[in-house]
Amino acid sequence: MIHRFAVGTMQATILSDGPLLLPAASDIFDGLPPAAGQSATRTTIEQNCLLLEIGGRKILFDNGLGSQKLYGPDSGRLPASLAEAGIAPTDIDALVLTHGHCDHCWGTMADDGTPQFPNATIYMAEAELAYWESDPPAERDEPSLAGVARHLLPLRDRIVFVRDGATFLPGVQAWLTPGHTPGHMAFLFEGNWCLTGDVAFHDPLSFAFPDARSAFDTDPLQGVETRRRVLARLADAETTIVGYHQPWPGLGRIVRHGGSFRFLAGA
Ligand SMILES: [Zn+2]
Repeated sequence: MIHRFAVGTMQATILSDGPLLLPAASDIFDGLPPAAGQSATRTTIEQNCLLLEIGGRKILFDNGLGSQKLYGPDSGRLPASLAEAGIAPTDIDALVLTHGHCDHCWGTMADDGTPQFPNATIYMAEAELAYWESDPPAERDEPSLAGVARHLLPLRDRIVFVRDGATFLPGVQAWLTPGHTPGHMAFLFEGNWCLTGDVAFHDPLSFAFPDARSAFDTDPLQGVETRRRVLARLADAETTIVGYHQPWPGLGRIVRHGGSFRFLAGA
């Protein structure tokens, strides 16, 4: 599944890696009002990978779950979506990672241990790789630790660390947004666009209740602070969002709503 559009003067395509089945909200968020947090219903969210074409180079932002089915049977569709867009994995010049969680970088290596995108330089924050290399003790991090070891460490010599605020590709600026993970990055694009990664991954709860602490954040309190800061800035600047987990194809705006926010789909 693909969706073509334009980011400023750049050609853009959203490539679906398929849906991901989340646990019930009450198992993710701490601090939801009872009416919002009691539902036992699991939620399906999207995985919207962005491909930007800049000056003849093809830049892929995040790459899904690969062949692993940790969150339901229907993920891992990025290769099919690339084929639908007429793009070969060898055409990808750069792989930009928001962070090291499974649903964002487990498409980096093929099952046989060879790089899925053999010609790609990898861009990410130094703090992100450093965290996963520091052997963090939290039990919930174990799958991601194994994933980073399998998907990123063998390619360490292809990784370029990106600094907060740096324009590291033409028209693409890094924005360090820690909390979900220590080196989580969002990316700002020319023309008032932003790829937000997992700063607010659940629509509507992450927007309606930004102060709820998420079990998926390595530092839930920092996650709250970053979420509020990022959503406020993007709402006030009327920035168009490329949301990784927002409803297909993930494009929309953030608006203030009382003391919190709403995601309005549509670009
Ligand atoms: Zn995610």
